[in-house]
Amino acid sequence: MCGITARVGDDEALDELLTSLTNLEYRGYDSAGVALLDEDLEVCKREGETDALKRAVAEEEPSGSIGIGHTRWSTHGPPSDANAHPHTGCEGRVAVVHNGIIENYESLRTELRSRGHEFTSETDTEVVPHLVEERLTAGHDPEVAFREAVACLEGSFAIALVVEGDETVYATRKGSPLVVGLGDDANYLASDIPAFLEFTDRVVYLEDDDVAVVRPDGVDITGLDGAPLRRESHTVDWAPGDAEKSGYNHYMLKEINEQPFALRQAIEGRTDPAAGEVVLGDLPAGTFEEIDRVQFVACGTSYHASLYGVALLQRRGVPAAAALASEFAADPTPVDGSTLVVAVTQSGETADTLAAIREIEDTDARTLAVTNVVGSTAAREVDDAVFIRAGPEIGVAATKTFSSQVATLGLLAERLHVEAGDGESFDAAFLEGLERIPEAVDQILDRRRAEQVAEAYAGMDSYFFIGRGIGYPVALEGALKFKEITYEHAEGFAAGELKHGPLALVTGTSVVFAIFTGENDEKTLHNVQEVKSRGAPVIAVAPESTTGIHTVADDVIEVPDGPPELSGMLSNVVLQLLSYHAAELRGRPIDKPRNLAKSVTVE
Ligand code: GLU
Repeated sequence: MCGITARVGDDEALDELLTSLTNLEYRGYDSAGVALLDEDLEVCKREGETDALKRAVAEEEPSGSIGIGHTRWSTHGPPSDANAHPHTGCEGRVAVVHNGIIENYESLRTELRSRGHEFTSETDTEVVPHLVEERLTAGHDPEVAFREAVACLEGSFAIALVVEGDETVYATRKGSPLVVGLGDDANYLASDIPAFLEFTDRVVYLEDDDVAVVRPDGVDITGLDGAPLRRESHTVDWAPGDAEKSGYNHYMLKEINEQPFALRQAIEGRTDPAAGEVVLGDLPAGTFEEIDRVQFVACGTSYHASLYGVALLQRRGVPAAAALASEFAADPTPVDGSTLVVAVTQSGETADTLAAIREIEDTDARTLAVTNVVGSTAAREVDDAVFIRAGPEIGVAATKTFSSQVATLGLLAERLHVEAGDGESFDAAFLEGLERIPEAVDQILDRRRAEQVAEAYAGMDSYFFIGRGIGYPVALEGALKFKEITYEHAEGFAAGELKHGPLALVTGTSVVFAIFTGENDEKTLHNVQEVKSRGAPVIAVAPESTTGIHTVADDVIEVPDGPPELSGMLSNVVLQLLSYHAAELRGRPIDKPRNLAKSVTVE
């Protein structure tokens, strides 16, 4: 997720390290820190903006020619000075920065504690310096200690480490980006090239399980087993600043493309289809045994994710409903000790959603936040929180957070299925399907159909989105995204509702996007016939194996086949791309559409 950087040279590293951290700010973060190695290893870190770190550095004056730095986007433990990276072990001989998630940190912590280690943060990261320190104490050299410690880790991560008395940075990656920069006077390491682009344009991209040993005079790359690897160096032709969006024109497109990674993060370590388990943070098995219904409160895109969650729950025998948070705050649904109230909010700061949960704080209802931001108000004010781990989202129009919310709600639905619904055991086919979703999203991102369709139907007056079952919230979300960033008239309808009113709006200058999921497709096909006979062109978004649509729809955008319940997640990615390209054609300010804010902190 956020930013790692390192500078390894013979002269003072601090200034360039701070520049690199500033260059990584665009990735979003909640705290920052550096470790510098000279004779001693010195760590300086602060919650908040890099300015807070710069003030601390001016006071504490750490210095050294070998340095690592970090901007943190909390996943484990709220933003605080103690949780900020770098992290050290008990003896302060080792400092570590880490992006991503170490899934097995709890068992590692328990083992380390039993061997006398004491922890000073709530992060998953802190196990790493303790593991390394233990091996140094046992007499291993730093490189071996690093390799052995990394071999204990499960999850997705990029890690950089310094060890007292050794003028080297050790680094590795698995699922999180890490790039080496080869300079004349120093060598660099970062999550993304813009971090060091002012200092060098020669880069080596690390691959998963590579170990980089970065010294002032060179860089060695080996596999985890120590076998030397050849990795080509490349000269990038970006000017500093160009790459802030990692080569994308907009954050929105970057974030759409980040979805396979974000989804993996949302799911990783939480499912075990073979063992039939769903692990959700600190929520022990049996947490939801007293629950007999679920009430979602949410706004905007999070409300659509909640509607998706409602469908998943009802199919699992758990009564569920979603309310718009502002309406719930005005007229709360009666709740009691057997109700689970789930607040879905990307930022965890949405005022309407907070007002909704405060409305029922005096009741016995159990409250749960599903959010992207650790330490946010929603996460603090509820009984339990589950984080969607999507990483920072900067574009105002939510994209990857919707997908990660739905994935997380899918996991929650499975837990409730067994603990509160009619399930004897977890649905292995669903969990396996969920694990394959990142790959299916990757396939969609490789195709250009949405872009072609956006162009072909650019001149229409209205854009309607229809769907049934799981396709309904996707239709609503498709229309919301489209209106948010193109400023065109767009509306989403339940496919079956068209004939009860909205059909009056359908003419030859409106276009209808019909979402097929593999369930109730025949009925949706009838609705398509209804709009076709009013002269409206129809674009079907459908699983590859859907039959009967090619002769009826004007265009078909296919998504990979899979469980119908998950198909909506894929159609949604198609509709995100459609909205993006339609907005681009119209020259809209895609990342900051008019009148909208990312985190809506007013009621
Ligand atoms: N999981 C780590 C933490 O919560 C790292 C998060 C990041 O990628 O910044 O501190």
